[in-house]
Amino acid sequence: MSGKDVLDTAQKQLKEVVQKLDIDEGLYKILAAPKRQLKVNFPIVFDNGEVEVFEGYRVQHNTSRGPTKGGIRFHPDVDMEETTALAMWMTWKCAVANIPYGGAKGSVKVNPKRLSKREVEKVTRRFTNEISILFGEREDIPAPDVGTNAQVMAWIMDTASMQKGHTVPGIVTGKPLILGGSEGRVEATGRGVIVTAEEGAKIHNMSLHGAKVVVQGFGNVGSVAARLAQDNGATVVGVSDARGGIYNPKGLDVHELYYKYSGRDGGIRNYKEAEQVSNEELLELDCDILIPAALSSQITHKNADKIKARMIVEGANGPTTPDADKILNDKGVLVVPDILANSGGVVVSYFEWVQDLAHFFWEENEVNNKLARIMRASFASVVEMMHEKDCSMREAALMIGVQRVTQATVLRGIFP
Ligand code: GLU
Repeated sequence: MSGKDVLDTAQKQLKEVVQKLDIDEGLYKILAAPKRQLKVNFPIVFDNGEVEVFEGYRVQHNTSRGPTKGGIRFHPDVDMEETTALAMWMTWKCAVANIPYGGAKGSVKVNPKRLSKREVEKVTRRFTNEISILFGEREDIPAPDVGTNAQVMAWIMDTASMQKGHTVPGIVTGKPLILGGSEGRVEATGRGVIVTAEEGAKIHNMSLHGAKVVVQGFGNVGSVAARLAQDNGATVVGVSDARGGIYNPKGLDVHELYYKYSGRDGGIRNYKEAEQVSNEELLELDCDILIPAALSSQITHKNADKIKARMIVEGANGPTTPDADKILNDKGVLVVPDILANSGGVVVSYFEWVQDLAHFFWEENEVNNKLARIMRASFASVVEMMHEKDCSMREAALMIGVQRVTQATVLRGIFP
């Protein structure tokens, strides 16, 4: 799927929800249009002296409920359309979690794996500089996403602080702890995925304890979700990274995978007590719960019918296409949608921001407990809407998000 397809999906979802909620045309036009879109081209001098020009984007979708919030992605396939769709999903995600932000997303068309550390730093600092007219701790607060991490956030914070003339920790979240990051932020998205998996399992009269789980992606979200699933008594039978997957119906030791294999030469595929499978085969493995935690458009009309899981919990943004959604719905597969399932990351980003603004930091227990409380409350309100409107969980989550943003827009009124 191209970026245009991803944006079409996001726009189509909005259109359908607006019709179901009877929202008028004027309000729909406001919700459909991203508030600000900035495209930048900037040069970098590589370590060998060569110069390359990179393309970057920052999109702020909506500010009705507060400053905009959303990650920065470094990936060779990004474009303005995909970044806009991801920004729109952030708006609904923050509204479903009921945290006071609108949605944003940023991206640079680059493969960070091909760059040296110093080159990644240069890309980060120059991109931050180029889009700094949009950033601010009260305006727009970035965070990690695909291809970026706490170190990248530290460079963003430092660059923005150099411009301001003083340290501004609240300008970005997902920072290292020592620079004003929050306890629990690194694990937050995966932890939230597992809380929603537990809640979702109840709907299907199952329990995470004893369930067979498959996780696609072994990055920040997937590796934490897999380990917490195992800690909660699930049997993780399959996992994968960008190179491919491994499968053992008796279960994998994901802690061992994480500490001894992932991130090393050859990665998780060097784990001996498992059969090697492709990323496509992984999604079709026999399991109860499937957690796609890699990129978008992984479950499509081509493989949706072959999925054996009874429940899908979307750790990634947009892993299921709309036609796949229909097939899964007809099969009775419960899909816990991305804007609910993976909102743990932005929820703890919110906690980090609050701690930075207050210069007062919380203990990890407090963070995790507050996160679980918010995730369970959002889950319950989505389930209530799902029953009230007799719709899928994705539609219910979108309805809650869109409704809350609409209410804020109506209450504020249209300037001037
Ligand atoms: N990039 C993450 C997401 O898609 C986190 C965003 C944030 O923490 O602001 O939800």
